[in-house]
Formats: sequence, C-alpha cells, structure tokens
Amino acid sequence: MSALLSGVNYRAGPDRWLWSLNPTGEFSVVSIKDVAAIYGRSAPAYSFFWNNFVPKKVGIVSWRVIMERLPTRAALVARNIDIGDPSCPFCGEYDETCDHIFAACHFAQVVWLVIAQWCKIPPIIAFGLKDLLDAHVAVVGSKKKKKVFSAIFQVVIWSIWKMRNEVIFGNEYPNISKVVDESKSMSFLWIKYQLKSLDWTWNEWRNFRIAM
Ligand SMILES: [Zn+2]
Repeated sequence: MSALLSGVNYRAGPDRWLWSLNPTGEFSVVSIKDVAAIYGRSAPAYSFFWNNFVPKKVGIVSWRVIMERLPTRAALVARNIDIGDPSCPFCGEYDETCDHIFAACHFAQVVWLVIAQWCKIPPIIAFGLKDLLDAHVAVVGSKKKKKVFSAIFQVVIWSIWKMRNEVIFGNEYPNISKVVDESKSMSFLWIKYQLKSLDWTWNEWRNFRIAM
C-alpha cells in the first residue's frame, strides 16, 4: 500500500474525476475516438445525423432503424422468436422489415407523399431507409433549412413506428391522417422549442408558409 501511494501527490480541495485520455482531464468523445483510431477501428459505413431539433427518443428510433435494431416482426423471426404472423401490420402483404414499413409499404408511401405535398417539395422517392434519412440533403436552401427537414423526416419515422405499435398492441386501425397530423404537430412543437428565435405560428407551420 505504501509503495502504491508513494508517487501520489495530495492537494487541498475536494476530490474529482480525471479523464486520463485527455491532457486537460476533461472527458470528451473525441479522445475516445482518437484512441480507437490507434487500434485501427474503421469508421462506420454510414454516419447517423443526430439532430438536436428533435428529442433523443425520436432520433433513437431512426438510429435503430439504420442499425437494424428495431424489433420488427421479421427481426424477431430472425432471432427465432415465435410471434406467429410475421406480416406487415399495415398492409398484411409482406414481411414486416424496417425497409418495408417505413419505405416500401403502401401505407408509408402515402404518408411520405402527403408530407412532401405539405412541405412543398418533390415527392420523396425512397428505396430504403437511408434514402429517407438523407432526403433532407436534396432540399434546396440553407444548412438550417436542411436540418429542419431532417428533423421533420425523423419525426415522421417516429410517428410511423408509433402508429405501428398502436395497431399491433392497441388494436387501432392504420390511420394515415393520424400519422401526418402527429408529424406536423410534434415537429412544430419540438423544432420551435429548439429554435426559440423563430416566430412561426401554428397556422403558418400547418400550411408550411415559413421563411427559413
Ligand atoms: Zn406493408
């Protein structure tokens, strides 16, 4: 014990944690990434854009979609979990995979069509989830405008997943209007909360007559 403590310098003041990977002693994600890079860890093929205009719970659904970590029926079957019918709760025609319920399913396609009309952008053609999560890149305008669109798209994905859960666990009927209305109202609340400087009214947002 004495030998172990022989090199320790005692100072006055309360104890505090020090992060040894950073010379300042402060924790940072960058310092972990730097150390990981030394061990040849390659960057992931796709970097998810965490958008702080929406709450974490919304971003987490999109992130889990990209990582294929959502417990869709097809994913549960792949893990040998007996769930009975693996088909899509919206159309019942195909297995419920992430690509299907968020992009390929007729239910989702109509949702995206209505959302594009509301946002006054060309129809969103998505062959998979990455197309949806990157759709904001094609939006013409400032960085902030693209970020607002990315937030809206993440809210739509969150809302489709919520509807899916209500159909499966709450015996609700698939309701496109409910998904669209919820996407509009929740994106308004969350984005406006983050961008406090903007004076958009609900009426302007509802009709997408907003300056960005
Ligand atoms: Zn379907």
